[in-house]
Amino acid sequence: MNILLFGPPGAGKGTQSAFLVEKHGMVHLSTGDLFRSAIKNSTPLGLEAKKYSEKGQLVPDSITIGLVEEKIKDLKKTSFILDGFPRTVPQAEALETLLKTNQLKLDKAIFLVTPNDMLMSRLTGRRVCEDCGTTYHIETMPPGPGNTCTNCGGNRVIQRKDDFPEVIRTRLEAYEKNTAPLKEYYKAKGKLVEVKGTGEVKEVYERLKSAIS
Ligand code: ADP
Ligand code: ADP
Ligand code: ZN
Repeated sequence: MNILLFGPPGAGKGTQSAFLVEKHGMVHLSTGDLFRSAIKNSTPLGLEAKKYSEKGQLVPDSITIGLVEEKIKDLKKTSFILDGFPRTVPQAEALETLLKTNQLKLDKAIFLVTPNDMLMSRLTGRRVCEDCGTTYHIETMPPGPGNTCTNCGGNRVIQRKDDFPEVIRTRLEAYEKNTAPLKEYYKAKGKLVEVKGTGEVKEVYERLKSAIS
């Protein structure tokens, strides 16, 4: 089962992907993670992506599609989750070509339905481990004492630079303008499945499990 997990920033895509990786052995492809890693390592791609992502804007399609093109070959052997790509209709069209070229198929496009008024608090409260990428939330899933990571034991659990209110607002606007139209796109292809993203993390996971079984 190959899926796309999409929805607004803060919907819980990364959190749920971690469960699917752990419990179902799926491979996770997150363009957000790839961009952050490139930025951390100051690669040419990272330097370019940083200009956009630090402001909460989408990285241009040509750069993003090029990045996925390099990675898509790695998805051949197991079920995969696309998280955060595609985020625009041109990216979705490019994905179709890339999948076809690699004899791969997307089975379902799962939209995590999360009310707008929840997104700001989810995002401002998000903390991430710089070492292993584990995601926390200051209220619902707090890190260990002194901002330590309960997964890898590191002490670099931080707030992402784009998880501050002003940048979040830009990201939510970019989502409405560019990514929300993907719902219609995948509906027309008969691939859209809507899953409620509210309630406990485990409840959402149970719903997702039913959606992919
Ligand atoms: P996305 O990848 O869609 O941007 P994340 O998975 O990073 O979203 O989740 C955003 C924040 O919300 C994180 O701090 C995460 O711990 C928290 N979160 C995710 N799912 C839930 C949930 N069902 N209930 C409460 N908090 C959640
Ligand atoms: P979140 O899951 O919280 O919405 P991501 O980690 O997926 O955020 O993405 C972080 C940033 O990386 C985005 O704000 C954007 O600048 C860039 N980015 C990630 N994926 C894409 C994409 N498919 N197209 C354009 N920009 C992207
Ligand atoms: Zn960690």
